[in-house]
Amino acid sequence: MNSSIDNGGKTHVRYAHKHYPKIVELECEKCESRMIATNQNVPDGIEHFMDISDFEKKWNLVCLNCTYRTELNWSELKEFDFWLKTEIRNIEFWSWNIDHLNMILKKLKKEDLKSDKWQFFQSYIPQEWLLKFNSEKEIRKIEKLKEK
Ligand SMILES: [Zn+2]
Repeated sequence: MNSSIDNGGKTHVRYAHKHYPKIVELECEKCESRMIATNQNVPDGIEHFMDISDFEKKWNLVCLNCTYRTELNWSELKEFDFWLKTEIRNIEFWSWNIDHLNMILKKLKKEDLKSDKWQFFQSYIPQEWLLKFNSEKEIRKIEKLKEK
């Protein structure tokens, strides 16, 4: 399985910076449904954080559909595919979780991000997305991910 959690190819290399979301939505390798990975070191209410060990088994994975449960470290987490992922105009689009996705949508629609908890991540949005995912058709495709 090829995951883009760390780099997503050359276009999102800035995501390799050590800044992590507390919650990552992934695809279950058993049943291909939505699986939630939560970092146990981070208190509730914190959306993202910096500087964790790549090797601590602090990520708690729970599939919302089947019985799959496990604890993994960041490096192992990268083996999974993102849940909120699609391809648009031959460019891979992905997001950590639904709040991250909503922030990206706001940015693409040129809406105000001032009170958005994810606004910090706006500077990590690949330039290519901002340039090419700006028409109604592309935005609709990203919005469809929310119905998955
Ligand atoms: Zn499952």
